[in-house]
Amino acid sequence: MATPSVMQFASTRNPELTAGFSEALVRGIAPDGGLYVPMRWPTLSPESFDGQTSLASIARTLIAPFVAGDRLESELGAITSEAFDFPAPLVPVSADQRLSVLELVHGPTAAFKDFGARFLAACLTRLRAGAERPLQILVATSGDTGGAVAAAFHNRPGIGVSVLFPKGLVSPTQERQLTCWGGNVRAFSVRGTFDDCQRMVKEAFADPELRQRMELSSANSINLGRLLPQASYYAASSLAVWREHGEPASYIVPSGNLGNVVACIWARKIGLPIANIVLAHNANRTVPDYFESGEWKPRASVATLASAMDVGNPSNMERLRSLIPDVEALRAAASAYSVTDEEIRARIRTDFERYGRVWCPHTAVAAEVYERLDPEVRRKGRWIVVGTAHAAKFREVVEPLIGREVAVPETLARLFARPTECVEIAAELGALRSALI
Ligand SMILES: *Cc1c(COP(=O)(O)O)cnc(C)c1O
Repeated sequence: MATPSVMQFASTRNPELTAGFSEALVRGIAPDGGLYVPMRWPTLSPESFDGQTSLASIARTLIAPFVAGDRLESELGAITSEAFDFPAPLVPVSADQRLSVLELVHGPTAAFKDFGARFLAACLTRLRAGAERPLQILVATSGDTGGAVAAAFHNRPGIGVSVLFPKGLVSPTQERQLTCWGGNVRAFSVRGTFDDCQRMVKEAFADPELRQRMELSSANSINLGRLLPQASYYAASSLAVWREHGEPASYIVPSGNLGNVVACIWARKIGLPIANIVLAHNANRTVPDYFESGEWKPRASVATLASAMDVGNPSNMERLRSLIPDVEALRAAASAYSVTDEEIRARIRTDFERYGRVWCPHTAVAAEVYERLDPEVRRKGRWIVVGTAHAAKFREVVEPLIGREVAVPETLARLFARPTECVEIAAELGALRSALI
C-alpha cells in the first residue's frame, strides 16, 4: 500500500491503473494504452528555488516531488547533473527586450529532444544496473527522435538501441545522425515507409520469440521520463525572467506531438511564474481546429518544412485533455495557431534581415506566431520563442532563404565527422527478428 508521500501516476484512460515513477518509465505506456499522468500536483513557488541558477539544480528541485518514495529518489541529483550538462540559454532577440529565444539546441544532437532522451537514459541505466537480461530499445523514427535517443543511450552498459528508419525517406543530415554511432547502437534502413517501421516495432513487442530472448523498451516521446524533465527548462527560464523583471514569462512553443507544450503547462500548474502559453503548429491543423471548433478530429499528417511537427493525431492530446477536459477552460489556458510553409520561408528571411537570427523551420513557426499576436499583448508580455532545433540541421531549407551558409555547431560537426554504418532490411518482422538475434 502506497503511503501518501509516494507519488503515483495514473493512466489517462483509467485512474485505477497506477504506477510509481520508475515503473511508469520502464513501461512507457500504461497497460490499457493510456499515458501516465501525475495523480496529484505538488506546489512550488519561485522561492522554492532560491539560490539555484543552474538548470541541473532547478531540475532537481522541480522533479523531486515526482520521484518521492521511488527507488530513484536518492539518485535524482546525480541524474539531473548527468542529463543536463549543457546550457539552455535565454537570448534576447528584439531591441526592446520583449522577445527572447530559449535555445534548446546545445545538446549532442542540437535539438530539444536531447533533454528528455538524456534524462530517460540516465534513469533507465540506473534502473537496469544488475539486471540479468540486456535491454533492447526499439525506436522507429522519421528523423529527429532516433538521433536523440541513440546519442543518449550510446555506450550505456546493459542497454542496446535499434533505430529503424525508412530507406531514402529521411534527409541526408538526419540519416547521418542515425547511422554514426556504432557500438551498442544499430541503425536499420528499412525498405518501406515510416509506418512500416512503426508497425515492425509494435510487432516486435508482441513477438514471443524476441520477448523470450531480450527485454524490449521503446523510449518514445510519450514516455513520462522524456516529458517531465522538459518542464525543467521552462522552470529555469521563467525564474530567470522573474528574478530580473518581476514579471511572468510567456511562451510560444513549436508543437507537433505536444510533449514540449504539455511540459510547459505542467510547469505552470506546479507554480512556476508563467503567463501565456501559445501552441505554434505548422499546416497540420488538428490542434488549432480543436481550439476553434471544440471538436477533436484527428487526421492524416501532411508533409511540411517543419517536418518534426508533421503530426495529425498528437498522442499527448490525451494528457492535455486529462488535465483540461473542457474546451472553454483550454481556451482560457492557452491558444493555438497554424502556419503555412510559405509563411515559414518568409519568416526565416525576414528575421534574418531584421535580427540577424537564423531560425530552423520549427522555430520559425513560433517566431511567425509571435508576429501575429495583438501588439498590445506583445508589449505587455515577456515573450519567449522556444528554439527547438539548430538551423544547421536543416541547411537544405534554410541556406537558400538567407543566401549564405549556416555555421555548424561543434557538437554537430563532431557527429558529422564520424563514420556511418547501417544494415538494410526488408519491411517485415522476420528480418528485424533475425537481425536482433
Ligand atoms: C519533435 C520536435 C518538435 C515538436 O515537439 P512535440 O513535443 O512533439 O510537440 C518541434 N521541433 C523540433 C525540432 C522537434 O524535433
